[in-house]
Amino acid sequence: MIAESTRVSCSKCQQSFAPHCSEVIDAEADYMLVDALIDGSLFSTRCPHCQSNLVLDVPVLAYFPNRALPIWFLPAQGRDNEQNTVDFHRLLCAFKVSHPDDWDEAWEQLFWMIGRGDFSQVGLYRRSFPPLAVCCF
Ligand SMILES: [Zn+2]
Repeated sequence: MIAESTRVSCSKCQQSFAPHCSEVIDAEADYMLVDALIDGSLFSTRCPHCQSNLVLDVPVLAYFPNRALPIWFLPAQGRDNEQNTVDFHRLLCAFKVSHPDDWDEAWEQLFWMIGRGDFSQVGLYRRSFPPLAVCCF
């Protein structure tokens, strides 16, 4: 399991904290995290200052080994293409460091990009290969 922490600000009390959230998921090693990604619980957290339940808006990179196109990127919401590119490369770097033997340079240009509203597509993916758009930054 690879866990990266990004600092976020609580929408209720405005204090910042580093939530526990896996931004890089190895689907083979951490299938529980894929389930959490699909049902949205991956993004649920509690503010340590005021105990409010919050929904995190963080990007996620998921790795599905043994697939033709194994890198999936779910951008954070409300970001522009430039921010998505920065997020993507930050997560891809973290992945590269932890999976040096699996690494393929082509993944920097070719990967699935799916929106958070398309989580049902991730579920479909587990049964068959979905016709999702390929996004190249
Ligand atoms: Zn708070």
